[in-house]
Amino acid sequence: MTRSWSDNDGVTALSRAADSLAALAEAIPARGQVAPSIDTSAAELPIQNLPAHVRFARIWEQRRASVLASAESRRCPLCGAAESRTWFLTQDGYRYDICDQCRMIYIPEVVPMAAWDRYFADIPDAREHLRSQMAATITVDALDAHRVRFSRYFELIERHGAALRGARLLDIGTYTGGALKIAAERSLEPEGVEGLEEAVQFCRAHRPELRVTLGHAEALPEPVRRQGFDLVTMWETLEHTFDPMRALAGAWQALKAGGLLGLTVPNGRNVQCSVLRDYCFFAYGGYQGIGHVNLFTPETLADVLDRSGFDLVYLETEFSTDWRQMAYYLQLRFERIYCYRNLVRHGEFTRNPEPSLGVILNWLSPALTRIENALQAGPIAFALARKRPR
Ligand SMILES: [Zn+2]
Repeated sequence: MTRSWSDNDGVTALSRAADSLAALAEAIPARGQVAPSIDTSAAELPIQNLPAHVRFARIWEQRRASVLASAESRRCPLCGAAESRTWFLTQDGYRYDICDQCRMIYIPEVVPMAAWDRYFADIPDAREHLRSQMAATITVDALDAHRVRFSRYFELIERHGAALRGARLLDIGTYTGGALKIAAERSLEPEGVEGLEEAVQFCRAHRPELRVTLGHAEALPEPVRRQGFDLVTMWETLEHTFDPMRALAGAWQALKAGGLLGLTVPNGRNVQCSVLRDYCFFAYGGYQGIGHVNLFTPETLADVLDRSGFDLVYLETEFSTDWRQMAYYLQLRFERIYCYRNLVRHGEFTRNPEPSLGVILNWLSPALTRIENALQAGPIAFALARKRPR
C-alpha cells in the first residue's frame, strides 16, 4: 500500500508518541505564565537581510519569463516516474507536483545552475547583494544562533553512537561555514564543500581557518569522495538539488563503512505549507538560485535515504508553524502574510501585530508546537542515517 503524506498517518504517529499528551499537559502551567504582551519579533520575515531579498525578488519579476524558458524538465527525483499531478503554482513562477507513484513533492521544471551563473553575471550589482547576504551570516548574533542550532544536531548525533572528538566531518553545501565553525568548537575535524564559488571565496577571505572546497552536492570533487569521513552532514541542501539521489550517492561514497549522515530539509507535511500553499514563504522554486525544488515529507525522506543505501536511525521535526500567518490566511487577509508576492509588492512587512491575536497565540503556541512535532509536522525535518554496506 502506498502511504500518503496527506492521509491520517499523523494520527498513527500521535498514538505512537505516548508522551505527547503528557508533554501537552506540562505546557499548560507554562503558558499561564506567559504575559499577554506583544511579540514584535514574530512580525519580522524569518529571512536574513531583507533588502537584498527584496532586490532579488524584484529583479526576478522583471526577468523571470526569459529565465524560466531555460528550465530543464525532470521526472520524479525519488522514483523516476513520469506521472504526477499538479499540487499548486508558486508565487515565483514554478509548479509543485506530487508523484503518482511515491508521493514525492517536487518542481518538475527547474532552472539549472548554469543558467543561474549567467543570470547573476548579467546583473551588475548582484555580487554586492550576495556578499551583503553572506556578511549577515557571520555576525556574532548569527554565530550564536548557529551554536544553538548545530550544537543540538551534534548532540543528537552523539546520542546515536557517534564519537565527535576528532571525528572527520564533511559538510556538503556548507555556504559560509556556519556549521563548520560549531563543529570545530566541539573538537571535530570538519571540512566543507560548497557549490557557489562566491561563497567559497567569501569563506576563504573571512574564515581562513576553515577548510572549504568548491564542489556541487551532485558532483563532489573526487579527492573529497575518497576520504572515508566518519560523518557527513547536509543542512538544508537536499531540497535545492536537481538530483537528490545523486547528491546522496556522493554522501554515501564519502562516508566510511558504518558512518553517519545527518541532514535537515524543509518539511512538506508542515501545516503552514499544506494550508497556505503558494502563500507559504518556503514554497518557492527559486528567484536567486535553485529554490525548494524537492519538498520531502518524513515518509519520502525515509524513502530516499533507503533507496540511497542508508538505514534511517532517527527522524524528528522541529520549530513551529507561524500561526499568525495561518490566522491571517483564515481571515482572508492575504496582504499581511509573509510570502514572495508581498515581499515584491511592499518591500517590507508590517510590525504592527494585533494585541488580540498576540494573546491567543501566546496561549496556544507552546501546545500547538508540541502537537505538530509529535505528528512529525514541524517545518524542518532532521534525519540521521547510517551507511549500509552494499
Ligand atoms: Zn516518485
